[in-house]
Amino acid sequence: MTSLLGPGAPVLAFDVGGTDLKSALVAPDGELLGVQRTPTPVQPEHTEKSVLETITRLGAALREQHPSISPEAVGLIAPGVVDDERGLGLFAENLNWHDVPFRDLAEKAFGLPASFTHDVRAAGEAEYRLGPASAYRDALVVTIGTGIAAAIFIDGKPVAGDGYAGELGHSVIAPGGEPCACGGRGCLEAIASAASITRRYNRLTPSPVPGAREVLERARAGDTDAEAVWITALDALGLGLSHATALLAPEVIVLGGGLAQAGDALFNPVRERLYSHLTFHRRPKLMHASIGQNAGLVGAALRARAVLETP
Ligand SMILES: [Zn+2]
Repeated sequence: MTSLLGPGAPVLAFDVGGTDLKSALVAPDGELLGVQRTPTPVQPEHTEKSVLETITRLGAALREQHPSISPEAVGLIAPGVVDDERGLGLFAENLNWHDVPFRDLAEKAFGLPASFTHDVRAAGEAEYRLGPASAYRDALVVTIGTGIAAAIFIDGKPVAGDGYAGELGHSVIAPGGEPCACGGRGCLEAIASAASITRRYNRLTPSPVPGAREVLERARAGDTDAEAVWITALDALGLGLSHATALLAPEVIVLGGGLAQAGDALFNPVRERLYSHLTFHRRPKLMHASIGQNAGLVGAALRARAVLETP
């Protein structure tokens, strides 16, 4: 694979997810070396301690495997509510931490400058800076996987709202509807994320499926329950994206995450629904995410390199 990142400082990159933690050493030519998945060491409380231990160990192993490369910074990303500017993990629902100064802790653990960023914003930034959406100034990168969240770029700059911006998945589409993991009801995520599509369908069928892909397959094969679940999800996505469009007027909306792998079966009906809600508004192009499953690591590396460039 050619290097997406291009030449720059060598850095360590860590993408902490709800189940997996990905790690890599980014070479001076931008190549990701030693990409590895490790189970996230989730604890009943203070998961940050075991996460820091794990990334310190993985970082040391990467340095040992590539002695000719000396990383100059560390890029760490995680889900939840993250204050990028202050490097704080404010809250992460499944990871059991509160107000953790991850950037400072990572700097201490590695003895290197570090950045700590929200996973969706970092992956979105990789997509925005290095993918086809880089030609546009106003863009949304929407990830539809287990959850739904957006990275917002206005005038070419990311908008983070102290960690609270981009929570498109927790805007209410059906008031009083499906309960959501956030404690609300009728959120977009509770209806249209890959996990919700699977959960909603499995409630209706005597033969449960492992994922949203199978729900789509059954809908295509004429299963009316699957079809109903899939159509409600498309309707919700079209409506949710129309609200984001009215508010932010993106030139382009990039869709990524597991559900985007459905391709035209997702993009065509969502585009149709989105456009049907627009009148005078700017019509955003819908684009496929291009960076793939390592977008998080690439975004973490971008942020780590940016730390070195900031005076
Ligand atoms: Zn919610």
